[in-house]
Amino acid sequence: MIDAHCHIDLYPDPVEVAQKCEKVGLRGIAVTTTPSAWRISSAIVRRHCNLAPALGLHPQVAHDRVGELKIFDQRLPETDFVGEIGLDGASEYRATWKTQVLVFTHILDSCSKFGGKILSIHSRRAAAPVLDALEDFRGAGTPIFHWFSGSVSQLDRAIAMDGWFSVGPAMLSSKNGQRLAELMPPNRILTETDGPFAQIGSRSLVPWDASSAVASLAKMSNQSEDITQAQITRNFDELISTHRGGA
Ligand code: MN
Repeated sequence: MIDAHCHIDLYPDPVEVAQKCEKVGLRGIAVTTTPSAWRISSAIVRRHCNLAPALGLHPQVAHDRVGELKIFDQRLPETDFVGEIGLDGASEYRATWKTQVLVFTHILDSCSKFGGKILSIHSRRAAAPVLDALEDFRGAGTPIFHWFSGSVSQLDRAIAMDGWFSVGPAMLSSKNGQRLAELMPPNRILTETDGPFAQIGSRSLVPWDASSAVASLAKMSNQSEDITQAQITRNFDELISTHRGGA
């Protein structure tokens, strides 16, 4: 099972969640939201499970944490994975837009300098400016668009730049999310949960809820869950090996 975007460090008991991930054979990417969380979060993830910790600075906290870019740059050599990063164009974050752009641009520039990373990208109501920034920093690495919710033509742009997509149960529970997932190349799709942020009903998702995304994708493509899961696992391996192969 693959969860390419979860926040293990934000559960009440991260160690317990990490251990359960290990027990069920889950792999993927454990993102973080602030550079100051990296040290402890990455240590827990590396010690207790087989997910890759990612160094992040979430756009929703960019304004408060812009001062941590220095820590970001110091820690960057410690990992091939970066996230959660990106831009958020929702009205409640409009006031922080300029700082968000500064932070995102700085991070993409840093990733370029370190030869490119695997990037888990937030682009809510900001698909166009996120795509523009990624085009400006081609060397920043391999983008995984997490919970992509842009237009069909923006999706085409993301596909054209060899982007990857991580889709979760919350996204696939909406008509629009399903429609976008159907248009994504099957060999570029990964599963995610975005837990504990993302919820189904009033329950926060846990990483092993990735199985429910597999079930939705299987239904959409008229394939068995086993075949769909095998494809997702192959995709994740391909992402890692292509990146390590040194693009
Ligand atoms: Mn997230």
